[in-house]
Amino acid sequence: MPHPSKPNDSNPSDEKRKGTIKQVYQSIKDKDDGHSHARKFMMKDQLRLVFWETTAGCNLECVHCRRLDVAHEMMKSDLTTEQSKQLMDNIAAESKCILVLSGGEPLFRPDIYELAEYGHSIGLTMALATNGTLVTHEVAQKIVDAKIQRVSISLDGASAQTHDKFRNLPGSFESAMRGLKNLQALGMETQINSTIAKHNVHEVKQLYQNAIDLGVEALHIFMLVPVGCGVKIADDAMLEAEKYEEVLNWFYEISREGKIQTKATCAPHYFRIMRQRAKKEGITISPKTHGMAAMTKGCLAGQSICFISHKGEVFPCGYLPVEAGHVLKQPFTEIWNKSQVFTDLRDQDKLGGKCGVCEYKKVCEGCRARAFFDTQGDYMAEEPYCIYEPTSIKQALDGK
Ligand code: SF4
Ligand code: SF4
Repeated sequence: MPHPSKPNDSNPSDEKRKGTIKQVYQSIKDKDDGHSHARKFMMKDQLRLVFWETTAGCNLECVHCRRLDVAHEMMKSDLTTEQSKQLMDNIAAESKCILVLSGGEPLFRPDIYELAEYGHSIGLTMALATNGTLVTHEVAQKIVDAKIQRVSISLDGASAQTHDKFRNLPGSFESAMRGLKNLQALGMETQINSTIAKHNVHEVKQLYQNAIDLGVEALHIFMLVPVGCGVKIADDAMLEAEKYEEVLNWFYEISREGKIQTKATCAPHYFRIMRQRAKKEGITISPKTHGMAAMTKGCLAGQSICFISHKGEVFPCGYLPVEAGHVLKQPFTEIWNKSQVFTDLRDQDKLGGKCGVCEYKKVCEGCRARAFFDTQGDYMAEEPYCIYEPTSIKQALDGK
């Protein structure tokens, strides 16, 4: 079903365009009336973020990569410049959202700066997700000139040893750090993305300290989802549900310190933990007390975010391989508003297992991709990596 906004509604996406991503979040946090802003950000099924795999080509072969097609150069099936601009027009027609140019390695695309500038010119907020290794001074300047607002760099450990092992390339940690500093020297907003799994969980505290010392704007931690290359390592790399709980509780504590923007991504039950902890502490959650986390919820796949593959397939997120449509066959707006998979994901009554009866389902929903992987296909099944027992189940077991 379509999600028209009334002409006089102030769209959260429009608000984002009044400043850098950091300034917008800060202004929301500073407002006394944080709740109304939070409500606008959480407007139902409003497209806020599109991750676009601009190419499947990449210079690295990370062991946890979500890519299904792995290549060391641009692929013939990558969208052309013209197809890409048309896609951006279609996205902007739906929402002036944030468009993250990702990959593979987006800097493999010679037209990436042209595409970024084009996206900016039609009202999208442009961001870039890179492994950082190709960001020389010259490249950093081009990124700034292309009006990209924020660059996220993936770091999979606090040390070169851990990161390089996972990235399958010695020296990749050093080059990523160099890339980060080249961007910062030009005043670019930077963010560190980190996939947390068994190989690096022992370094997570140091990673947080490094992020502060490096002066990045944000640290986003991702919980491994067993898709693409990640399938092969899932058994060895996935954290146990209890460890997951421990890391997310720690993440809650550091998030409350407010030293840096923090976000637990693809860890939906963080939003349950946040509420449990805040209740215990007697705090009402607002952007002022809990920052960005107060403005959003757990799994946003197909509700506020989606992922577009290098060929043009549209997925709920980069980790849930259920195709919602193809932008070369159908306008993006039609896919976003009408596809069956998005319709399912927007209907919480369809959640299965314990997620379906959980009192936190509205703010959490569990990871649909991990449910898909665990059940070999049911993306509405319960999240397999959550230890919480919903009250209704507890009561039934207690015979109440
Ligand atoms: S299904 Fe939701 S929580 Fe899971 S990886 Fe996708 S966006 Fe993240
Ligand atoms: S049971 Fe499901 S909805 Fe409830 S907190 Fe766990 S993952 Fe979230």
